[in-house]
Amino acid sequence: MTGTLERPTLRNPYDGLASYGLFIDGVWVDARDGGTFHSVDPTTGRPWAEVARGRAVDVDVAVAAARRAFDGGWRRTGAAERAAVLRRLGDVLARPDVVERLAVHEMLDTGKVVREAVGLARAFSSWCYYYAGVAESHRGSTIPVPMRDTFTYSVPEPVGVVAAITPWNSPILLMLWKLCPALAAGNTVVIKPSEVAPVSTLEFATLLAEAGVPPGVVNVVPGGRDAGAALAAHPGVDKVAFTGSTATGRSVMHAAADNLTRVSLELGGKSPNIIFPDADIDLAVNGVVSGCFAAGGQMCTAGSRVLVHRSVHDEVLDRLTARAQAVRFGDPFDWESEMGALTWSRQYESVLGRIRTAVAEGARLVTGGDRPATAPTSTGFHVAPTVFADVRPTMEIATEEIFGPVAGLMPFDSEDDAIAMANDTPYGLAAAVWTTDLGRTRRMVDALEAGTVWVNCYRRVSAAAPFGGWKDSGLGSENGLEVMKEYTRSKVVWIDTNPDARDAFRLA
Ligand code: NAD
Repeated sequence: MTGTLERPTLRNPYDGLASYGLFIDGVWVDARDGGTFHSVDPTTGRPWAEVARGRAVDVDVAVAAARRAFDGGWRRTGAAERAAVLRRLGDVLARPDVVERLAVHEMLDTGKVVREAVGLARAFSSWCYYYAGVAESHRGSTIPVPMRDTFTYSVPEPVGVVAAITPWNSPILLMLWKLCPALAAGNTVVIKPSEVAPVSTLEFATLLAEAGVPPGVVNVVPGGRDAGAALAAHPGVDKVAFTGSTATGRSVMHAAADNLTRVSLELGGKSPNIIFPDADIDLAVNGVVSGCFAAGGQMCTAGSRVLVHRSVHDEVLDRLTARAQAVRFGDPFDWESEMGALTWSRQYESVLGRIRTAVAEGARLVTGGDRPATAPTSTGFHVAPTVFADVRPTMEIATEEIFGPVAGLMPFDSEDDAIAMANDTPYGLAAAVWTTDLGRTRRMVDALEAGTVWVNCYRRVSAAAPFGGWKDSGLGSENGLEVMKEYTRSKVVWIDTNPDARDAFRLA
């Protein structure tokens, strides 16, 4: 690849407001009540798109369309046919013009900078290709029962209509984590993107017909909390795949309980980044930057609790501070920009509020804490990379998810200390260990209570590797082969190949 291909020049294609409807049954429609809302460009703080606001009545229409598409044929498509659709979707998503288009829309929606948005968009197709393969290889099993002449086997069947409810931080990626396995299994889907950043998912929907996804198989209903709640409680929905906060995840599970709808929940986190004295400190600091400041720290996996062995604490603090102060802000379309704005005003206020509380509770603000002097606009939601030292485990900054570019350093003295501090949280999404000691690696991996443990790396995800939270970070998992269990139900078939009229009151 040439440098030019790797760093395409992107720009905002809109002079005025972009405009989007709801995508239901393969067509674009207005909300029944005609309502709309705006998506705000985080870099400028100004609306850039007007979007139809789906309500419960629109959710009803979308679920009915998804049901018709399911019963009308998609459930009976062969695995090869579904795989072909996913491969075509992958081919569409892999096209440079589509990568660029989706990256631009996600930048305008979420405040991501071009280097992050394009990198992310280039990965989208891999989820389609992976689940195309899974569609073809996913199968039931023959079951060796003790009865002679009886042939018993299981068949995985799709669950039906899947509701995919997604957050605003990485809308397309987190939607694909649900959509691809759902389609591979033969389900139809209603997506409810976050009201804060709904547009990139709608732009994605414009590509479905080209990939040969039949009408009604994938529907998108942008809307707020009410639309999400309507989906979670909908009797026509067979599975809810949710990503968002732990509090909302609890409501979703309550709502789904009445219909005994299956749920998977990918929720919040407060992940530890644990640095031992034998670590490559440059690597570890780079990992902390990646885990705390990339995407403005708006990651469920943010490694914001930085646990550092006392003997290297000051060295890590100095290097992290220097790196934080060197982070480049600028035009999000400039490839040199490393950090953009936070996604919306409420998140901006929330992060600044958490920083104020940390100071009030006695944490030492080493750098950042406010808007960066180099922010490209005065109206954007920019927060400088912020480093706190002297953080105590009971402080809000050490216990609550910040979802912003804030790292809090806490010293530890021994492996046991580090383990106790790392696990002292209701969350269990991810953890990172920085060490070159193999024995320590094994002991730490064994002891950490988290669904993902990274060793000498951070922020690695793949379609092939299951991802899911322990404890209050979630239920079930996404990605990998295991996820197919979430999107299928097993039918066990008994065939007596030599039937005779046996004692009607005998069990086996
Ligand atoms: P949120 O919980 O406020 O909203 C998530 C989605 O749920 C949105 O689409 C929203 O409209 C919808 N919603 C709101 N109330 C609802 C209700 N009562 N019933 C059904 N749906 C409802 O979360 P957010 O602020 O959009 O996203 C940030 C949170 O998401 C953070 O806590 C972050 O850790 C978490 N997150 C988790 C993962 C993961 O994979 N574990 C990934 C990204 C983000």
